[in-house]
Amino acid sequence: MDLNLDSMAANAASAGGAQEEAVKVLIIGSGPAGLSAALYAARADLEPVILTGMELGGQVSLTFSVENYPGFPEGIGGMELVELFQKQAERFGARLEYDLAGEVDFSERPYKVLTQNGKRYLAESVIISTGASAIHLNVPGENEFTGRGVSYCATCDGWFFKDKEVMVVGGGDSAIEEGLFLTRYADNVTIVHRRDELRAGAILEERAKSNPKIKFAWNTIVEEISGNGAVQKVKLKDTQTGDQREEEIDGVFIFIGHKPNTSLFTDQLEMDKNGYLVVDNRMQTNIPGVFAAGEVADPHFRQVITSAGMGAAAAIQANHFLEENPLDNK
Ligand SMILES: Cc1cc2nc3c(=O)[nH]c(=O)nc-3n(C[C@H](O)[C@H](O)[C@H](O)COP(=O)(O)OP(=O)(O)OC[C@H]3O[C@@H](n4cnc5c(N)ncnc54)[C@H](O)[C@@H]3O)c2cc1C
Repeated sequence: MDLNLDSMAANAASAGGAQEEAVKVLIIGSGPAGLSAALYAARADLEPVILTGMELGGQVSLTFSVENYPGFPEGIGGMELVELFQKQAERFGARLEYDLAGEVDFSERPYKVLTQNGKRYLAESVIISTGASAIHLNVPGENEFTGRGVSYCATCDGWFFKDKEVMVVGGGDSAIEEGLFLTRYADNVTIVHRRDELRAGAILEERAKSNPKIKFAWNTIVEEISGNGAVQKVKLKDTQTGDQREEEIDGVFIFIGHKPNTSLFTDQLEMDKNGYLVVDNRMQTNIPGVFAAGEVADPHFRQVITSAGMGAAAAIQANHFLEENPLDNK
């Protein structure tokens, strides 16, 4: 990969925007993982800088209510929760920069990160917490009703659908697993799949087919989600006949895939076959001093608490790394 960070920085300089800053810890991403890493790094006097990216607070800031983060017995708004994370990290000296990492060069220390605003960071260590994004259906109503009946996480939101009717969109392992999980709460779960057979494994398929609360809408796609303040209806289309129909529903759970935000690190960091960063049990990537935490390195748990825990662990390890590996010129 031809990074050419020097010429990008020079271009930014000639455009009047170049700046360079040496930092001990640069954190890329401001979701639960990044902000927890920031808290721990700040309390270790490492004066971390956090590049927020486009979504300050990360995915959880999109959700109306979080009921499974300990310490808030009545639940807490997603945005409110991450604002508390941010305040706590800032109290100990973490600094948030409203900027995005545009290019990275991890070939030697200090590691170089060039931002979209044309600033170049020279970082003794880096914590990557750029998260992941659920793949969207991109149908009318989906964004409008996210957190109001549209969900990408059964563990997070299933409880809100006690005795209700929900749909699960998708036909892979996670759609079926999450659909089965939702039967604990919902009265009925309809799995909407665009083909006439599942991609999920045979055991999961068998479990779903024998569950009396689950039914299937084969060869069907969702065309629109609508409601009044919360989801009430979906418009469906039969992919074979083209027939359209409307169904009343309380919730739509979308599991058509999940994509880690790692394209920035292609050819520099080891990834698994799905693009998640590979870390050891100390959050270390294949490059010493470059750590990864949260959903960017976690295809399994995908929760605020697990992401925050990984962020804390990454910062503790970054502190050890810096103690053991001071840069020669320092
Ligand atoms: C609608 C919804 C509801 C949810 N509800 C719950 C819940 O109730 N309970 C629960 O435990 N979990 C919930 N989750 C899951 C939870 O939000 C995630 O597990 C958690 O946010 C992951 O944290 P993270 O820090 O790893 O990544 P993310 O939250 O994905 O944050 C990634 C961060 O990286 C930044 N970023 C990306 N690219 C760049 C770049 N190039 N440069 C700089 N920054 C970058 C983004 O701006 C963002 O700040 C929910 C998720 C969604 C979508």
